[in-house]
Amino acid sequence: MSATLITRISELVTNEGDLEGFAAITNAALVIEDGVVAWTGPSSRAPAADSFVDAGRRAVLPGFVDSHAHLVFGGERSAEFAARMAGRPYAAGGILTTVKATRAASDAALRANLRRLADEMLSQGTTTFECKSGYGLTVPDEERGLMLAAEITGDTTYLGAHVVPPEFAADVAGYVDLVCGPMLRACAPHARWVDVFCEDGAFGADEAAAILAAGRAAGLSARVHANQLGPGPGVQVAARAGAASADHCTYLTPADVDAIVSTGMVATLLPGAEFSTRHHYPDARRLLDAGATVALATDCNPGSSFTSSMAFCVALGVREMRMSTEEAVWSATVGGARALRRSDVGKLTPGARADLILLEAPSHAYLAYRPGVPLIAAVWRAGELVSGAPLPGGGAN
Ligand SMILES: [Zn+2]
Repeated sequence: MSATLITRISELVTNEGDLEGFAAITNAALVIEDGVVAWTGPSSRAPAADSFVDAGRRAVLPGFVDSHAHLVFGGERSAEFAARMAGRPYAAGGILTTVKATRAASDAALRANLRRLADEMLSQGTTTFECKSGYGLTVPDEERGLMLAAEITGDTTYLGAHVVPPEFAADVAGYVDLVCGPMLRACAPHARWVDVFCEDGAFGADEAAAILAAGRAAGLSARVHANQLGPGPGVQVAARAGAASADHCTYLTPADVDAIVSTGMVATLLPGAEFSTRHHYPDARRLLDAGATVALATDCNPGSSFTSSMAFCVALGVREMRMSTEEAVWSATVGGARALRRSDVGKLTPGARADLILLEAPSHAYLAYRPGVPLIAAVWRAGELVSGAPLPGGGAN
């Protein structure tokens, strides 16, 4: 066993405590042993260790937990984005553009794109992420997407119910049967979660409930794309299905907020989508003030939110959604962990996985205070330095 001491940390965000909420220690140190956090406390009381890292009066945070991402896809849609921003019509846009490109892509091309995005996330401090299928929409293409996703994360999500593919446009019930039957049987062995896009133009309340019930019967846990583009039944469907999280939550009635609070279901907000579609942001303040558990995630996908940056989402949460810097960082770490029902990540307390970020800044607030600036100096996952370097602010031996 070898222990590593990280010392002279200006602010160590631990998220420790019985109550939900941000917690930090100033002038702190942390010990990593066997891939987990072994000790945290003031630098002056740090125990001896086999090696040490000098944080150089910079901040250390838990690695980000991105609980909502669509990373298995072919092609890109920058022209569609540019046209949307310019207010120009764009005929060939939408999810089905990506479905076509994904079906046409080789395994090697999909894998290379997926790994590039996963590396991009890691270098920006995301040490845990969820990854959905949903751009194949045939039995072999959905199964392939989940097998590829399972190569890089344990939090894989079956999203055969993303949209109805064109070949089933005249037979939506037939597609729901496929999603609940042969497609589920092929995908369930490679998935932890089942998800459905419950929205006008995608799947209605009864269809969504049937898909989630079939997924749960196959051993998967539920999560839902809900109330993104308008008011709708998504949050209530998610609550009835015992979902871990309702994601988007841009249009909520008082009854929806009550359902989120009373079930303890996480409300996962995805401000990258509103940024990239010039839509109004979800009301994070209303959810937080009602006592909801809120997560922030990227929704990384080539159409409506092509960012992998959790720091960007933190900045949007603070600037555009009236979250405090503490709330935004909590939602991007523990909040994401709750949305994935994970208790081993999102915090830096003894026994937690040693996933941590060294910031090129003295406090967590800089993530929103200096938006767009690469502040992630180094990243450790399960105690291993996996990106960046602790130098030059400090030293290592
Ligand atoms: Zn999504």
